[in-house]
Amino acid sequence: MAATLRTPFTELAPPLSPEEALVEADRCLECGGPYAEAPCVVACPADVDVPGFVGAIARGEAERAAEIVWQENLLGGSCARVCPVEVLCAGACVLLHEGRDPIEIGRLQRYATDAGLAAGLPLRPPASRRRTGRVVVLGAGPAGLTCAGELAARGIEVTVVDERAEPGGLVRFAIAPYRQQREPLPAEAAALERLGVRFRLGTRVDSPQALRELLDGADALFLGVGMGADADVAYPGDELDGVWESLPFIETLKTGAPPAVEGRRVAVLGGGNTAVDVAVESARLGASEVTMIYRRTETEMPAYPHEVEQARAEGVSILFLASPVRFVGEREVRGVECVRMRLAEPDESGRRRPEPVPGSEFLLAADVVVKAIGRRPRSELLSWLEGVELAGGKVVVDGDFRTGNPKVYAAGDACNGGATVVEAVRGAKVAARAIAERLP
Ligand SMILES: Cc1cc2nc3c(=O)[nH]c(=O)nc-3n(C[C@H](O)[C@H](O)[C@H](O)COP(=O)(O)OP(=O)(O)OC[C@H]3O[C@@H](n4cnc5c(N)ncnc54)[C@H](O)[C@@H]3O)c2cc1C
Repeated sequence: MAATLRTPFTELAPPLSPEEALVEADRCLECGGPYAEAPCVVACPADVDVPGFVGAIARGEAERAAEIVWQENLLGGSCARVCPVEVLCAGACVLLHEGRDPIEIGRLQRYATDAGLAAGLPLRPPASRRRTGRVVVLGAGPAGLTCAGELAARGIEVTVVDERAEPGGLVRFAIAPYRQQREPLPAEAAALERLGVRFRLGTRVDSPQALRELLDGADALFLGVGMGADADVAYPGDELDGVWESLPFIETLKTGAPPAVEGRRVAVLGGGNTAVDVAVESARLGASEVTMIYRRTETEMPAYPHEVEQARAEGVSILFLASPVRFVGEREVRGVECVRMRLAEPDESGRRRPEPVPGSEFLLAADVVVKAIGRRPRSELLSWLEGVELAGGKVVVDGDFRTGNPKVYAAGDACNGGATVVEAVRGAKVAARAIAERLP
């Protein structure tokens, strides 16, 4: 396909050189002031002082810029790479509204935090006093790492427990490698350790007793467990070779053993950001054709429009108003039988409900099929905690991100059903501040 000489690891937003960073930072109008925050700050869920750090870069003070980022976002290096800046800070930039290119805030934040991490700067000044409270954080994804770092920075003893051998959660194992492969997570985790965070990695909490022990041994428990595996949606032919779920597909790629799709036809089921990521990754791995199958139209597609545009630019086709019926093949998948859909009245989500057009079945040839239809909540684990309630698969929390169990807080995907890293950072910061206020 005409798609690409890019590999799955070729970065969409590569690092800026010092000269490029200075020139870019110098374009910032440093708008905002004491009575009206700059629109980029308002648009940042983590409340990062964007004009402040960009101004520091423009003065040649990259390390000071890192400190400004870390005041509000301890995972500023990861966020710099993975945040959908087009719909957040950069999308709000006043330059954009004047018809000019917005400031490249993500790349500047990366420049700053890379400089700070390379210099081994502390993420925060040392805590003014040591506290006696102890907190356990379950999950070393962005929510757990942020909560732990915010607590350690306040002098609170905190241990992060995760089943994985490496911290980062989905940032390490799911976010597309053209945004972030592995760096700067190891450096961010090391900086969190220097701040006082302890890690117990490779520890799966797999029974009510194990969870109860964590809770009993702490003054507060923070749940940053995210969502679980891919949604349990099966079609006839699911067992054929070449049929994948999205998370294992991406994880093999992120951990160095990419799925064999070169020269093959890939069909991706779904219309969300994960489906788009899988499609672009397949194109970059050299698939001969990549087709996304989505049952509604482009208007209803949950993926970000700028990512859909990117996917098309990389050679991905999108089949709208089509839904899979079964996977076809002997031992290996050879195609997806689909049915045409039409849109009926809106359903409870407000989107027009798709319904099959009788007799409209057709076959889409495919050698690899990836289901990217959503993820399951970690209902079983969460049911083990008294007082913790789920609504629609999401943990119910109050304004402090406290659950119905007064000792238990939660944030991130477990609460919002799957959003962004910076949303996980936002919730975890609120929770950490609330926990710190209540502890001795
Ligand atoms: C394919 C994909 C692409 C994405 N791309 C982007 C992107 O480009 N930009 C962006 O901002 N967001 C993106 N996201 C969303 C983002 O990754 C999540 O919103 C974010 O990681 C949520 O953080 P979290 O800490 O709540 O959960 P997670 O990152 O899921 O971390 C949860 C952690 O809890 C651990 N855990 C769970 N249960 C247990 C247990 N029983 N015992 C021990 N440990 C446990 C897990 O091992 C994991 O490390 C993407 C998501 C997916 C699936």
